[in-house]
Amino acid sequence: MSTDTTIHPLCPGCKTSAIRWGKDSKGFQRYRCRSCGTTFANRPANPLGNHRLPMNKALLVLNLLVEGMSIRGAERVSSVHRDTICMLLRTVGDKCERTMAELVKDVEVQDVEMDEIWS
Ligand SMILES: [Zn+2]
Repeated sequence: MSTDTTIHPLCPGCKTSAIRWGKDSKGFQRYRCRSCGTTFANRPANPLGNHRLPMNKALLVLNLLVEGMSIRGAERVSSVHRDTICMLLRTVGDKCERTMAELVKDVEVQDVEMDEIWS
């Protein structure tokens, strides 16, 4: 009798079904492909990278900042430490920059308007 009642996920390489193969360092189920031997885990994607801040807190902080609240103001409202807020800002900013670079390219420029530059 098999006690394994979970659905067998497919190997990302050869698309054949894989068997359960222990847990990864974060406790997520790992799998091993029966034909090519590749091991993989289906860790849920974390758009915040290595941040441990819960997504709802991160969204609250970002919403407050986007609305123009100060970092210390956002700290008081969300009870997330200002240093954490700064690190979150850095991560999100870098990701936004990469997204911009990926999505906005080969834009033909006809006119350039520059304000407040006097040299
Ligand atoms: Zn495989």
